[in-house]
Order: sequence, then structure tokens, then C-alpha cells
Amino acid sequence: MKVMLTAVIDGVRKDTFDRLMKKGKLPVIEELSKEAVNVENCISSFPSATVTGHASIATSSFPSEHGIVGQAWFDREMNEYIGYDFELTMPDNWIDAKTNLNDRHLTSETWFHRAKRLGFRTFSADLIRKGADLKMSFIFPGADRNIPVPKKLFLLRKFSAHQSIKKSSILKKFILKIFPFHILQHEIVAGNVVKAVRAGYNFGIFWFMETDAASHIYGPETVEGEHGKPYIYDSFEDAMRDADEEIGKILKALKDHELYINITTDHGQSRLGDGKQYHVSLSAEMEEQEINAFTRIDPHEYETRVGRKAQVVVAPSGPRMAHIYVLDTGIRQRVNDFLIDNSAVEFIFWKENHEVVLCDKDAVCRIQEYEFGDNYPKAVERVTGLIKSMRSGDFIVTAKEGYEFQISDYRGGHGGLNAEDSLGFAIIHGPDYREEFIQDALVTDVLRIGMSRFVKEVS
Ligand SMILES: [Zn+2]
Repeated sequence: MKVMLTAVIDGVRKDTFDRLMKKGKLPVIEELSKEAVNVENCISSFPSATVTGHASIATSSFPSEHGIVGQAWFDREMNEYIGYDFELTMPDNWIDAKTNLNDRHLTSETWFHRAKRLGFRTFSADLIRKGADLKMSFIFPGADRNIPVPKKLFLLRKFSAHQSIKKSSILKKFILKIFPFHILQHEIVAGNVVKAVRAGYNFGIFWFMETDAASHIYGPETVEGEHGKPYIYDSFEDAMRDADEEIGKILKALKDHELYINITTDHGQSRLGDGKQYHVSLSAEMEEQEINAFTRIDPHEYETRVGRKAQVVVAPSGPRMAHIYVLDTGIRQRVNDFLIDNSAVEFIFWKENHEVVLCDKDAVCRIQEYEFGDNYPKAVERVTGLIKSMRSGDFIVTAKEGYEFQISDYRGGHGGLNAEDSLGFAIIHGPDYREEFIQDALVTDVLRIGMSRFVKEVS
């Protein structure tokens, strides 16, 4: 059977990928890349964040079309905060347990729909599941048991967060030793892919998520052996090599099939500065300046808690990017001034008379007139592909190099427009493909290229 798989390895920056390839540390991907279209700079959509990236890969469209404008946004009509934030308190208003990523939120068709029309049987072991015939879990072995993603991820994170391990009790350490949740995600997802293909499904997308987690916790440039283990990955390199190994297991288990496999990432990752000043809560700083601002909760919840009128909602992604919603239009200028003065903010974007305008703190101009330079790949196209969405904030901001829009002790973050956040890799492999190179492509191109070649081969 001819089978097309797409592996999304989360948060893999181009230069760290290239370095590992050069050192021969990703032997499986290296072998596949010799019969593949190799995208040298695979550029993420904006924000360079996980749910947006996965939606862009699975639909081949930008957020203005697929609707997933970030890890979080504010639904003006429903007056609610939508948060795909895995690690903090998780509002359960976004989840559709049957589909995992709420179908109401994903507004365009996916490659599952298109592949089905072409006669394929489709499966997802990814965040994006809309239209898939079979929904496999990416946390537990087997098909999805309709357990909402936040619950699954909460369970994982609860046991695997770097900090909680350090501070953990003997009991927790013992539990982790028996059930090393973190290590298992890659293995479980690979096992589920094999199961789905053996059950006759010939088009699937799946997700290795721990590369991104390791990058946030330890930093995107970390190498194996830096921190020591024993229970979780000790570095980005460690997690990436594990993903490579699991792909190897899939290939071996499915060697009787003709496998076409795309391997890509959803975004890159920037190294964050060392020190409290690099981790900034925009809503907390606005509150200090007597702007009634909040994040991660609905306006009515804020008003009940603090007894003040809600004025600004901050919805961060990555979180080196944030949507800012000004509920009280009377303070729009004050919010703008706050953002200009804030030392963590790099760019501010907004719409004005059907034009996209930006402020880089020195000057305000139309986006087309701005000289972004090489450090901001396809910036105009990507910002436009976001800001056209009605779900976008009144202001969209990115963080300066080294900064993130949350209080954490993370060493890595993403979400921005800059090269470190935005540049990843992609390889589009098929049996007997020639080794080819494409200089630049967007994440939205990966499945388009992969499918156009694959369908030719199949028919
Ligand atoms: Zn991601």
C-alpha cells in the first residue's frame, strides 16, 4: 500500500536542525533526506506558535483563513477568552472533546477532507483532527478516548515539568520512574501511527511534541549531557534524537508499505535572556499603570474578581507575540503609548483605513514601506495573513530579542516574526525521489508540495 505520512516535530529551529544533521545525529532523517525535496528555510506562519503552525500545515493556509490566530485570542462576539495554553489553568471553553481542536475554531477545510475526496482513508495523531476518519490519541496508546486535550496535557506536564521534578517528592519520583510520561509521548505517537496504517489508513498527520518542551525548558541550543537525566530529556538535542529514532521505528514497522513521508516543524525557537526582566507580563504592567488589563480569563471573571471594569485583554502566543484587545476604545491611545514605552515590545501592528500599519518605536509607517531586512522572513505576507482575521487583536505585538510575554524561568520561546522563531526545516520524501533543494518555502507549502507529488505517484 502507498501511504503518505506527515510528522510534525515541534519547535525545531533551522540552524540547530542543520547542526545535528551535519554531526550525523539524525541518521534516519538524514537517510530520508537523500530521496527528498529539502526545504532549507521552512518559514512558519505568524504567530510562530504551535496551534497556528499545526493548523497552517494541515490546511495549507494562513490564520486569516483557518482562524487559529494564536495559542490564545479574545472572541469579541462571545465575550470570552479562548486559550490553547497547555501549561497553566486551562479554560475548558475551547475544547470539543470529540475533535480535540475545536471545529468551531478551525474555519477552513483540512488536508484530511481533501485526501478523503481523493480516495484516501485518513487518520490524525495530531492536534488538528477536523475531517480525519480516525482520530488517534497522541498521549495514550490507541484511538482517542475522547479525553479532552487539556486534561491529557495537564497530566503530562504535571509529572514532567522540570521544576516540579526538582522539587518533587519521593513518591512523585517513584511514579515517574515507573511511568516516564515525557519520554513516552514520542513512542506512543509512533506506535499509534503504525497501528493506524496497519488498520488500512493511508494518509496521516502526527505530532512529536517534546522537542518544543525541551527547548522551552533548557533552551533551543542545548546539547545532550548538559544537564544529566534520568527521567526526562536533558536537552533539545536529546528530544530531537529521540524523534529521529521513533521515525526509524515507524519505517521499520511499515517496511512492507511504500512510504511517502513529510517531516517538518511548526516553528523555530529563540533563546531567552537570563534574568527576570526578560519575562514580562504585559497585563500586569498595564495594571500598574492603572489600565484594567488581564489575561487567560473572561472579562466577567476579571470584573467579578477585582471589581473594576475590564478595559484590555492580552492574549499571548509562544509567547513572544500577543494580541491586545482594547475593550474600552477611549483608552486606545493610552494603550498604544504604553506599548511604545514598554521595553519588551519590538513591533506594534494594527489596521488603519484598510491598511496594515506598524510602529517600530521610532516611526509609524505602512507595512509595505518598512524595511524588515533578512531577520524577518516574509514578514509582510505573514503579518497580513494574520491581521486580516476578525479574531486578531486591535494591536498585535512581538517581543524584542531575548524577551517573552509571560513570567517563567524558561530558556526558550517563540511566537515572533524574527528568523530564530520563524525558520525551521522540512523534508518531503518519497521512494526514489531525487535529492532536491528549495531555498525558501512556508509551512503552508509542505503538504501542497508533498500531496501534488504523491497523488501523481498514486494515480
Ligand atoms: Zn510548536
